[in-house]
Amino acid sequence: MPSQAKAFAAQSATTPLAPFSFERRDPLPTDVAIDIAYCGVCHSDLHTARGEWHGTVFPCVPGHEIVGRVTAIGDEVTKFAVGDVVGVGCMVDSCGTCPSCTDGEEQYCTTTGFVGTYNGRDRHSGGHTLGGYSDKIVVDQHFVLKIAHAEPDLAAVAPLLCAGITTYSPLKHWGAGPGRKVGVVGLGGLGHMGVKIAAAMGAHVVAFTTSPSKIDDAKTLGAHEVVVSRNPDEMAAHAGSFDMILNTVAAAHDLDAFTSLLKRDGPLVLVGVPEHPHPSPNVGNLIFQRRAIAGSLIGGIAETQEMLDFCAEHGLTADIEMIPIQQIEAAYDRMVKSDVKYRFVIDMASLAG
Ligand code: NAP
Ligand code: ZN
Repeated sequence: MPSQAKAFAAQSATTPLAPFSFERRDPLPTDVAIDIAYCGVCHSDLHTARGEWHGTVFPCVPGHEIVGRVTAIGDEVTKFAVGDVVGVGCMVDSCGTCPSCTDGEEQYCTTTGFVGTYNGRDRHSGGHTLGGYSDKIVVDQHFVLKIAHAEPDLAAVAPLLCAGITTYSPLKHWGAGPGRKVGVVGLGGLGHMGVKIAAAMGAHVVAFTTSPSKIDDAKTLGAHEVVVSRNPDEMAAHAGSFDMILNTVAAAHDLDAFTSLLKRDGPLVLVGVPEHPHPSPNVGNLIFQRRAIAGSLIGGIAETQEMLDFCAEHGLTADIEMIPIQQIEAAYDRMVKSDVKYRFVIDMASLAG
């Protein structure tokens, strides 16, 4: 018998999220059933629920920063046992056989594409996937992560499942570490984790913010220097000096201001997916110093486990503000105003209330 899940869903791009219930499948042989304790609130949830990216299938249950406890396992599950604390991030499925999947880069699956934890094509139900703003979820063990952090940290671990891996993966790919000067643009959910992780990797970290009120926090998070990006003099002082810049901004903006700060061969790595396109960048800025503008999508499952273990070892979690699910619309409204310090996390116990 499939089990009934309680959730919050958007019924259209213009209706607020509201209580909703639906069925989760019974665990198949390689599935893990999880009671969700906490779910982080990613800006992608807002982009999707409010139809900013188009292509949203309603009803939409967002949420892909999931931490919970295993309640049941399928007959062939070997990685997990009932009672384990586990995580689920942005993916719940992929083809498993294409070159990206066999390389452990399931997010770049080239045949079916990865199946998102929400708004993806659910190959079991035939409908679309429904995410973590719910009390339970059933996921194939390959897409479930082990959590080594201590129990009191679990709410603050949830954002690692998206914000953590989305910043860890490009920082590692482009060699953030000792002797490297790394910029992180936008101090929101992703950016604040980018600062923490880049600092833990040993890089010299410069945080760029549009919010002067976040300067002190940025230093506490681990930034060695902080630049208010609306101030041209502060920006000019860093011209041509960065080995890489990771840009997490969720809105369209001028990229030239950042490409001009890169050294020869340096990449500006975009992870933000704004509703409207960025203005076309100045190609001269790229050509004359062989600079690049690159993109990066979350990270593979093996790398997500590596990131979780790295964060546990270095004592890293997100800085969070816990909310009951009934406050999700107010949280979204604050996120649009860059007023998040630095990730909302939903206490899923509030669904029972
Ligand atoms: P967030 O918490 O809202 O943070 C975004 C930050 O960007 C804000 O806090 C703000 O920081 C800055 N910002 C916002 N509007 C700006 C503007 N108009 N000009 C300049 N800076 C602005 O969002 P998030 O959850 O970190 O997500 C960031 C983006 O990444 C979203 O588009 C999301 O969909 C995307 N994302 C991508 C991936 C991926 O795999 N590539 C994964 C997850 C999320 P300051 O106040 O410091 O300026
Ligand atoms: Zn996300």
